[in-house]
Amino acid sequence: MSTTVPPRRAPERGLIERCAAGEDDAWRELITTHAALIEAVVVCALHDSQLAKLDESQALTAQFWEDLRANDAEILRDWNGTSLRHYLALVARRTAESYLHSTTTTAQLVTSDFAHATLTDSSAPDLVPSAEPAPFDKLSLQFQAMIRLRRLGLDLDSIAAVLGMSQASVTQNMQRAAHKLTQLQTATPSQAQLPTSQTNQTDLELAWRLVLGCAPTSERVDAALRSEQEPALRAIRDRVQITFAQAHDMTAARPCDSGKSCLSELDLVYLVDGTMRGSAKAAAESQLSSCMLCLYAVANLTLDMRMARIFRDAKGTHRALQVAAACIATERASAAEIKAREALDEGALRAAELIRVALVAHNLPGREAISRETSRVVTAPQIPTDLEAPIMGIEALVSGDVTGAYRAVDEHGAKQNIGARLRLLAAAAGHDLPEAHERAEEILSRTSADPGLRRDAEAVAALPDHRALPREILLERLADALPDLARFLITHSGDAPV
Ligand SMILES: [Zn+2]
Repeated sequence: MSTTVPPRRAPERGLIERCAAGEDDAWRELITTHAALIEAVVVCALHDSQLAKLDESQALTAQFWEDLRANDAEILRDWNGTSLRHYLALVARRTAESYLHSTTTTAQLVTSDFAHATLTDSSAPDLVPSAEPAPFDKLSLQFQAMIRLRRLGLDLDSIAAVLGMSQASVTQNMQRAAHKLTQLQTATPSQAQLPTSQTNQTDLELAWRLVLGCAPTSERVDAALRSEQEPALRAIRDRVQITFAQAHDMTAARPCDSGKSCLSELDLVYLVDGTMRGSAKAAAESQLSSCMLCLYAVANLTLDMRMARIFRDAKGTHRALQVAAACIATERASAAEIKAREALDEGALRAAELIRVALVAHNLPGREAISRETSRVVTAPQIPTDLEAPIMGIEALVSGDVTGAYRAVDEHGAKQNIGARLRLLAAAAGHDLPEAHERAEEILSRTSADPGLRRDAEAVAALPDHRALPREILLERLADALPDLARFLITHSGDAPV
């Protein structure tokens, strides 16, 4: 596909020209600016493949910078002027992927890819993905693309941005897909092993709305409360989760056919950074529905750029610590722990705190198995500092100590966004329900409330009278707060750059 985006003058253009001319100063500046993002992308690619050791990440990152410099900086000279960060992240991921392909067979890559994102519901160890065929191929290509993006970890906002749709129409289409999947599954009950009574059909559709992320907050809260008391609903939800896990089936991935080639690197960048417009954009978006490789590349770039948000206010923070925070923010707890320990070994401040947050991330359900390396557990001091208070709060909430959590984050700590979130959740999880409702109402009345805090408040406001936040919703809210906590820690790190 030819690119029809006019190159824009970017502030980095001068820097790139100096790099191309071989100026060492320029290279140093380029590397310093983007080091954390590049290493994070490489670490995440290795982590997701589950095939390579993360200690290869440094060598691979060094390889990336070397490749960039080769042939008079040919790769850099190919960049023509929109978001340099996006472009470098994309090239870094390609470097990691071709390394992985060179060291493994395609079959290995395909089966292990995104395995970490597969459900790992520890309460149901016998529920391994079955051979039951998922009915996704009976849906329209656009529905399939939306569901795959969701499966890759994108929220509905990001899916809307990637596919060029409004958030409302993504929600509506997801609801339609949930309805259609329910019809397809109940039409072949022997395969789906699902009961066909009317009640269960309603619950089946509800389960699909929940995994597809299109159920409104009140419905999610209600379903979580019911799931605590109704094993039948829990069972239906577990089965749907397993079927949903099959939506990422890269064995079916082939390059674009019907005479089209896959989107070029620059097209991918323009699409994700928002500079692509008009007919080029429409054509690229339709290509995403027909080609899983293009869809996969766009999803990865979108997810990788989420990490850049973490680094935004963290200039001067230890590099490995930034990478650890990015891994926490993107649900890669084991990689986060490894990088935080690396930072600890290098004497970085806040490394111990980030290790604790990584351990919390491990222990949230639906995540990776609990870390086996516990020999270097970091103990909490007696009186929490401002930085430790939210960590203690989140640890207490995960372990079920709502009062401990509430006390850890005092009124002063609640002036920070992460503190406000944890104090609200602790109150709603049972410490003080009237206060939780009062706070939630106050937060929802503010037009400028932080989006995460607002989502917490919506969940609290949806609670029936005298009911505490169900554990499922509490853990979902804590997972949503982890990126805030990671960002809070690295922007208050006070470390010298490394
Ligand atoms: Zn393609």
